[in-house]
Amino acid sequence: MAMSSLEGGRLEENRRFTHINELFTCHYCGQNVLPLKTGCRNHCPSCLSSQHVDDYPGDRANSCHGQLSAYSYSINSKKGLVLHFVCERCGKEGNNKAACDDPLQPDDYQKILSLGCQGERKKKRTTTRF
Ligand SMILES: [Zn+2]
Ligand SMILES: [Zn+2]
Repeated sequence: MAMSSLEGGRLEENRRFTHINELFTCHYCGQNVLPLKTGCRNHCPSCLSSQHVDDYPGDRANSCHGQLSAYSYSINSKKGLVLHFVCERCGKEGNNKAACDDPLQPDDYQKILSLGCQGERKKKRTTTRF
């Protein structure tokens, strides 16, 4: 009668490999950046920079690796606050939703405001409804 102790060992192991959300360290300011619970953050909440590695978000298909710096923001009626980036190496522009409402590590709101708003679109309302 051989009672295997493997099962117990395996359970232990599984417990050790609980899902850990990926954390990355900002290339530019050294900030440890926590992942967003909702959505996808590709920029550092502290210095608002990211690295130009994607053609499309998350695909890591671009070999530029230049610094994408936020240079302005705008207000999108669906997404809210959107940051605009430009790559300092190749000049490609892009944008990413800001994460000012992230409970763990919100984007630096003051820093975003200091960039200056661009292209804010306000819908004219002719009537005010209550
Ligand atoms: Zn940073
Ligand atoms: Zn680039």
